[in-house]
Amino acid sequence: MLLDGKRTAATIREELRREVADLAASRDMPPGLAVILVGDDPASQVYVRNKERACAEVGIVSRSLRLPGDVAQDHLEGLIRELNADRDVHGILLQLPLPQGLKAQRCLELIDPKKDVDGFHPENMGRLTLGLPGLRPCTPAGVLELLARYDLSVAGKKAVVVGRSNIVGKPLALLLAQPNAQGNATVTLCHSRTPDLAGEMRRADFLFLAVGRPRFATADMVAPEAVVVDVGINRTDQGLVGDADFQALRDHVAAITPVPGGIGPMTIAQLLRNTFQAYAAG
Ligand code: NAP
Repeated sequence: MLLDGKRTAATIREELRREVADLAASRDMPPGLAVILVGDDPASQVYVRNKERACAEVGIVSRSLRLPGDVAQDHLEGLIRELNADRDVHGILLQLPLPQGLKAQRCLELIDPKKDVDGFHPENMGRLTLGLPGLRPCTPAGVLELLARYDLSVAGKKAVVVGRSNIVGKPLALLLAQPNAQGNATVTLCHSRTPDLAGEMRRADFLFLAVGRPRFATADMVAPEAVVVDVGINRTDQGLVGDADFQALRDHVAAITPVPGGIGPMTIAQLLRNTFQAYAAG
């Protein structure tokens, strides 16, 4: 089975469009998202354009703030403070990676946790760890939402996450282990120091790939009944490919997400949901 993130994300945007219209009718302003883009990284420019388009579709007013790659740290921090104080802005997103020389973590910690729609602020990460309400990182939350929309439950199953970054692997592992309806998996978090990685992957009922290596997971590393969620986005001469060898796996496993058209659109849909959540709470 193909887990179609593109179609599912379109459904979510349609649901959200109605929710935004309903709530905005009783407020004096629509939801607003500020996106800060520093420098001219081509991939980041594409991501920001996609986010702007998705915002427009659901009725979120997006404001993109483009800064030159040699902007001073103080200037960037000043802009974040201004946006924190701006009543028209409910969500603030700092597009990563930042050009060399700028301190990303310092900037992320300056963002008001209530406007932190990427869910990367230590307060929101702490809330995620403790299972308290808060804004969740978009990619991991988008992964869980896609599984839920296909009625695929990880409860009682063995989930293997490959990759332990702060933006994907680590928060995803935490969400999967939460004692709630979308969690209750037994989670193994793997990385480059994991011995017998292929053996760990083969034992997975649910395999989550967030490695950043094209076609890393081959058919011999994945159980035939597994569900494979491929978060990887790798640019190759053949175009965008995931961390899974999709051609080899699609008829081998129970279900798999494609790249593109899998977790990418779900991540953007979750960003819109987080922005709406921040607006509704404000
Ligand atoms: P990252 O920060 O580079 O982390 C990669 C992780 O993979 C690290 O934990 C690393 O282990 C592990 N790893 C690398 N090579 C390995 C190997 N040979 N064996 C085992 N583990 C290995 O990457 P990221 O930011 O999490 O992103 C991962 C992928 O997801 C990238 O392709 C990225 O483009 C994509 N992504 C997609 C979305 C989306 O919207 N779909 C969003 C974010 C990221 P160590 O920690 O030991 O180094």
